[in-house]
Amino acid sequence: MKQALVCGGGGFIGHHLARKLKSLGYLVRSVDLKYPEFSPKDEVDDFVIGDLRDPEVWQKILDRDFDEIYQLAADMGGAGFVFTGENDADIMHNSALINLNCLYYLKEKNFKGKVFYSSSACIYPEYKQTDPNNPGLKEEYAYPAGPDSEYGWEKLFSERMYLAFHRNYGINVRIARFHNIFGPEGTYKGGREKAPAALCRKVAEAPNGGEIEIWGDGEQTRSFLYIDECLEGVLRLMNSDFLGPVNIGSDEMISINNLAKMIMEIAGKNLQIKHIPGPLGVRGRNSDNTLIKEKLGWAPSKPLREGIEKTYHWILKQVSGIN
Ligand code: NAD
Repeated sequence: MKQALVCGGGGFIGHHLARKLKSLGYLVRSVDLKYPEFSPKDEVDDFVIGDLRDPEVWQKILDRDFDEIYQLAADMGGAGFVFTGENDADIMHNSALINLNCLYYLKEKNFKGKVFYSSSACIYPEYKQTDPNNPGLKEEYAYPAGPDSEYGWEKLFSERMYLAFHRNYGINVRIARFHNIFGPEGTYKGGREKAPAALCRKVAEAPNGGEIEIWGDGEQTRSFLYIDECLEGVLRLMNSDFLGPVNIGSDEMISINNLAKMIMEIAGKNLQIKHIPGPLGVRGRNSDNTLIKEKLGWAPSKPLREGIEKTYHWILKQVSGIN
């Protein structure tokens, strides 16, 4: 039986991944500051509550030979958390410390398995994302570097550190750059939620004929990837010989206004959009999937609407208190 460690297993992607690994027959340990918000903690074999900034926690959790480690823990959130500037120091310090500890202790323990690191589309330079019709970010565009957030800079630094530990100490790393992952059982309120969840909540809460607020003019574009395809990409990368970094994202780009309209259609509601000032991020972002197709013979292909329907219905249940 393969043994896996999921760091950040209490988070959105982490707990979906831990559940998936369990379904594939892995023995799974998760570690996080908190238990998953929307599912039972006993879905995994053991769940350690611990702070991965603390070296002692790494000593404790690496007490056995894991075949695979998934490092997803990070101090993060949506635009309201990452782009206001108020959380920059914590984002950089906390996430870097987690990754510094991870690699140091994998080296110390002579780790022989594979470690997955979740980087982000936020590493791409701002100057490649000024056009709302962005044709897609190729992996090579990362340099010359110029991310528009400290979150992106920390991810870029950590990508490089994982690759350096591979070169100097033979640590077997895999690195993916996630592009806006969404789905049920993700944060949908409280300030750390991302655009699809926030819009689903706003539409679910608004009375028909009412109004929802959108930051900026809503013409900024993004692509969004449903959680199931994200997990498929992660597992395919882990099972391949390719180290990455590689995009795991959808290439179906949509403006935030059109995403809101799609959600209104799903909800059967007719709402006005009120544009208000707010943190925005880049103007246009899309995933280029040439490299993933070349290296893994696969790329995400499911229509955005399919995932948004599932997510909307889950969020509707949450806001209506039906569980
Ligand atoms: P999330 O915030 O739901 O999960 C991250 C988890 O890390 C949280 O449960 C949090 O409690 C945990 N964590 C933070 N600091 C910790 C610490 N000091 N010790 C232990 N646990 C700690 O985020 P997510 O959406 O599941 O993202 C998972 C990973 O993927 C992150 O590294 C994120 O940066 C990356 N990523 C996500 C997206 C996305 O769209 N969701 C896009 C790009 C990259």
